[in-house]
Amino acid sequence: MEKFVLYNTLTRRKESFEPIAAPNVGMYVCGPTVYGDPHLGHARPAVTFDMMFRYLRSLGYKVRYVRNITDVGHLEHDADQGEDKIAKKARLEQLEPMEVAHHYTERYHDAMRQLGVLTPSIEPHASGHIIEQIAFVERILKAGYAYESNGSIYFDVEKYDRDHRYGRLSGRNLEDIVTNTRELDGQSDKHHSYDFALWKKASPEHIMRWPSPWSDGFPGWHMECSAMSTKYLGERFDIHGGGMDLMFPHHECEIAQSTAALGHDSAKYWVHNNMITINGQKMGKSLGNFITLEQLFTGSHPLLAQAYSPMTIRFFVLQAHYRSTLDFSNEALQAAEKGLDRLMKGVETLSKLKPAATSTVDVAEAERRCADAMADDMNSPMVISTLFDWVRIVNQAAEWQQSLTEADLMALRATFSKYVFDILGLRDEKSATAESGRDLVSPLVGMLLDMRMQAKAAKDWATSDAIRDRLTEIGIRVKDRKDGYDWEIE
Ligand code: ZN
Repeated sequence: MEKFVLYNTLTRRKESFEPIAAPNVGMYVCGPTVYGDPHLGHARPAVTFDMMFRYLRSLGYKVRYVRNITDVGHLEHDADQGEDKIAKKARLEQLEPMEVAHHYTERYHDAMRQLGVLTPSIEPHASGHIIEQIAFVERILKAGYAYESNGSIYFDVEKYDRDHRYGRLSGRNLEDIVTNTRELDGQSDKHHSYDFALWKKASPEHIMRWPSPWSDGFPGWHMECSAMSTKYLGERFDIHGGGMDLMFPHHECEIAQSTAALGHDSAKYWVHNNMITINGQKMGKSLGNFITLEQLFTGSHPLLAQAYSPMTIRFFVLQAHYRSTLDFSNEALQAAEKGLDRLMKGVETLSKLKPAATSTVDVAEAERRCADAMADDMNSPMVISTLFDWVRIVNQAAEWQQSLTEADLMALRATFSKYVFDILGLRDEKSATAESGRDLVSPLVGMLLDMRMQAKAAKDWATSDAIRDRLTEIGIRVKDRKDGYDWEIE
């Protein structure tokens, strides 16, 4: 199998990817919280780990990709207090909490489909794994790294830190965390401000609640990922991914929970994508720059100069390395739209090139450079720039400034198909829309033009001209021929 080098956030260096049980690869990625419309911030991790899933499969690995749905336990503040976000939305909209979660899960799936994100192998819901989460809390209690307080269970960070060191992933130490943790009201159940909830006793008005040995309550947010990754991928698995914003406290707490319960961290490689900023600013509801994916696809947000197609967004995300920040602006999106168009036109030109007797170029170079770029920590911008170099060559070949043999043409088409469609996961939206539009338009235009022929035969020139002019107005050019007509969409 080809060598693949991956940056491991935990060790802070690039490591050669060696799966625990090749050819099987277990991959867990923290999925969305489903209490609102999917937004720009969801696009980056989804596209990044979709590319990783596609790439690993192209290398011949058998990947089990688990991406969870957080439909419980995500509190307003990261300090284990405040109202559950889904329950709050349900209360405001007078809905059953699962109605809210289901609605936004569907919206998320729809947006992901449009972005060309493949369905993961398993998509477990936190609310469907309460039993596993309770069992996981019990393991941590039994190992001595948690304590009960008024029906809630908290993780004993100090004790864990003494034995295993807390903060390995985010590079923080306990002193930094103490000085940066605000004491909030209602935290008196905890021994220390940095302790986090594994199980929370529900207050009387809290709707999402389950029975447990300690209280009627609900699991802490970090618990679902420890419990569900262990259930579906085992006590040791290969890749754990997510956005950089999840590194602390979420992933740090996950590592602590798994290490406390199992005696070792469960994930071998921790992979984090960097964040999307908007005109240099962090995205946030309070900043007025919170853009949902639907608003992007339809252009309906004051910050947007136009609508951007799902593939433009995907291409925009892939044009940056996943570990670099990515700044969203209309200019950058418009440049991505143009770039994607140039790439797709190149693919089309390549499909029509005629073979020559000899080749003036070495097509193996295209495959080699793309493969090397992907193998170097998934360098998608390098893959794209290689593809653009070859689009230039293809365009030259179309004007007979370069030539390729039949075998070379086939190899180059295979390279483009592999990287553009299979690994980067792009699709040609323009030709797809034009084709599906044409399916519907063709019989309608044919019908109108038949009517025009009849009008002409009856020497009703006014009707005949009106039909042609109206079609021209909506972008359909009619060409009269001796034996009838021809038409095309302009
Ligand atoms: Zn998680």
